[in-house]
Amino acid sequence: MKVAVFSTKGYDRNFLQRAAEGSGHELLFFEPHLSPETAPLARGAEAVCIFVNDIADAETLAELKRQGVLFVALRCAGFNNVDLAAAHDLAIKVARVPAYSPHAVAEYTAGLILALNRKLYRAYNRVREGNFALEGLLGFDLNGKTAGVVGTGAIGRVVVRILAGFGMNILAHDLKPDPDCKALGARYVPLDELFAQSDIVTLHCPLTPDTRHLVDDARIAAMKPGAMLVNTGRGALVDAKALVRGLKSGQIGSLGLDVYEEEADLFFEDLSNQMLRDDVFARLLTFPNVLITGHQAFFTAEALSAIAETTIANLTGFQTSGRPEHEVSIERIA
Ligand code: NAD
Repeated sequence: MKVAVFSTKGYDRNFLQRAAEGSGHELLFFEPHLSPETAPLARGAEAVCIFVNDIADAETLAELKRQGVLFVALRCAGFNNVDLAAAHDLAIKVARVPAYSPHAVAEYTAGLILALNRKLYRAYNRVREGNFALEGLLGFDLNGKTAGVVGTGAIGRVVVRILAGFGMNILAHDLKPDPDCKALGARYVPLDELFAQSDIVTLHCPLTPDTRHLVDDARIAAMKPGAMLVNTGRGALVDAKALVRGLKSGQIGSLGLDVYEEEADLFFEDLSNQMLRDDVFARLLTFPNVLITGHQAFFTAEALSAIAETTIANLTGFQTSGRPEHEVSIERIA
């Protein structure tokens, strides 16, 4: 099957090509994001393969359909960038990679928490400049503190296990409480209680209409003053302008972000020679207690390998039966 792969980087090409060996799929690699303007690149392909910042809205899907595309293979877990209702109406099937390596994201989340708490990013720069002073680097023991984990699916569950390993008390919130998390001592509480009592809040729920701006001014005001907030989920789970206000007031003690609502114009590219046009992002970068990375939590060899293999399996499943194993459809998530 011919597959148009959008937002291709060298690493995508390497891992996908290796996984596709012997599958019979012909992968056509394109660097641009998928959008209504770039959708015609898929001409002659039966499937497209897309990533987190590709846009598969109704307009793009309609254009893809005109080009002969019948299947969208997401090479990521989140599917908030696909209009599933439009895909359904156009009879375009959609599949994702539900769990490629929850460890990659969970371990990265722990890394952000540790780096932020102990200010490793500041220490790194100081030592290179011959500054060995410790003022400003004071952290706190994780042991005995309370972590609030919002979303205890594949990733959140591993986060709970790691943070419980540090001796943290775990508060959790999910629509479906997880028995493994309960066995680890996590206590499921309403969101308000989680925010009010946690020293660290970390977000691992999907981006849906219900969770968009889950962290807004009101939620920040209800946090424990000086608490840490970490988001490795999706950018729009938080209102970035509210984060700036929360940091300025000191209500947010420290902030770790691997995702950003407007990241599509920034992340995955080298923009070091360009002016930063996003004022909110620029403001966030000015705080000494903010650590931002460019959507790299998933980026391990194991994860890329698993993503590529599941993506090829989804393509093969669609080609052979019309029902890829990891289909996402409006009916399935309803
Ligand atoms: P998952 O589907 O296994 O788990 C998500 C959990 O969130 C489920 O248990 C679900 O019940 C829960 N949930 C849904 N709505 C909720 C709500 N309103 N409040 C609380 N919980 C809710 O997904 P996962 O594999 O654990 O991934 C979680 C998210 O992490 C993905 O949706 C994706 O957006 C993000 N992610 C980020 C990266 C990265 O590199 N930064 C990589 C992979 C995934």
